Amino acid sequence: MKVTDHIKNSKGTIVSFEILPPLKGKTINSIYDHLDPLMEFKPAFINVTYHRSEQVFKKKADGTFEKVEVRKRPGTVGICAAIMNHYKVDAVPHLICGGFSKQETENALIDLDFLGIDSVLVLRGDAAKNETLFEPEINGHKYAIDLLKQVVDLNSGIYLVEDIRDGSKTKFCIGVAGYPEKHFESPNLQTDIRYLKAKVDAGADYVTTQMFFDNKKYFNFVKVCREAGINVPIVPGLKPITTKKQLSVLPRTFYVDIPTELSNEILKCKTDADVEIIGTEWLLQQSRELKNAGVEVLHYYTLGKTHVIANVVKQLI
Ligand SMILES: Cc1cc2nc3c(=O)[nH]c(=O)nc-3n(C[C@H](O)[C@H](O)[C@H](O)COP(=O)(O)OP(=O)(O)OC[C@H]3O[C@@H](n4cnc5c(N)ncnc54)[C@H](O)[C@@H]3O)c2cc1C
Repeated sequence: MKVTDHIKNSKGTIVSFEILPPLKGKTINSIYDHLDPLMEFKPAFINVTYHRSEQVFKKKADGTFEKVEVRKRPGTVGICAAIMNHYKVDAVPHLICGGFSKQETENALIDLDFLGIDSVLVLRGDAAKNETLFEPEINGHKYAIDLLKQVVDLNSGIYLVEDIRDGSKTKFCIGVAGYPEKHFESPNLQTDIRYLKAKVDAGADYVTTQMFFDNKKYFNFVKVCREAGINVPIVPGLKPITTKKQLSVLPRTFYVDIPTELSNEILKCKTDADVEIIGTEWLLQQSRELKNAGVEVLHYYTLGKTHVIANVVKQLI
């Protein structure tokens, strides 16, 4: 079922989870071990992130360096199929512009359609590690909206090859990313929301947000989006803080603020076990407030913290 149908059919707040493919070399069992404790909460859908390859320089025996492509977390499509087969739960793969030509994207979409996947989250992806700004592939997409338009075209039976204009129509429900604290490259929130509105006008069915730790940021974002004419569901992305190190890592990586009240409590902690208690309680309070405000879906970034998410969701429902 599509993400938007899950939302339409829900009688109260539903939950969904997001996972990362395991590092290359691990088995699908690591995904099952991660998800098993969460399945009792009957997630409406499970997102699987996509990770492009990176170029790294490896030192050779003769002292020179060799450039190699390394893809640390492959398997997004396979994991989606495994999740649907194993748990009978809808999987939502992330699709990115980075590293893909339009032809490769089309072929990936055909695979996803044949697998019975109903929803995709389309993203631009970040710049490669060796680039300062995002560079599209030759014959690839520059912005998420361009990738989105390709999915919309395929939903209308329009393929890239000239002679297929009335091909089989895919039926993907399309999600896009939104940033309550603005995307880091955007000059301001208003401008970022203007581009978000363009994605919705081009056919996005729903928005999933970047993580945030202050619900006021989410409520304000929804308000500004509604004022801008964005009327699709805006699914909040939620993540627990479980280590002291995250106080600097999360702002640096995701360009999000951590409220003073939360950081003060965490700074008082002697161990990360203490931080986890604070982070769990904070996430529970955030979740309760969002649920009480009638938010339709709570989307949890699980990132290896299954027990924390399980703890929160157990107390929530
Ligand atoms: C919910 C969620 C899930 C994610 N999952 C993944 C994942 O699985 N894999 C991964 O690699 N990354 C993922 N990301 C990170 C994401 O790829 C990065 O944040 C990326 O830098 C931006 O992606 P986007 O889709 O928001 O890009 P876009 O919508 O293309 O926006 C990128 C920037 O360009 C601006 N912009 C948009 N359109 C235009 C235009 N026409 N002209 C000028 N400026 C424009 C926007 O304001 C923004 O600043 C995820 C992010 C979120 C919030």
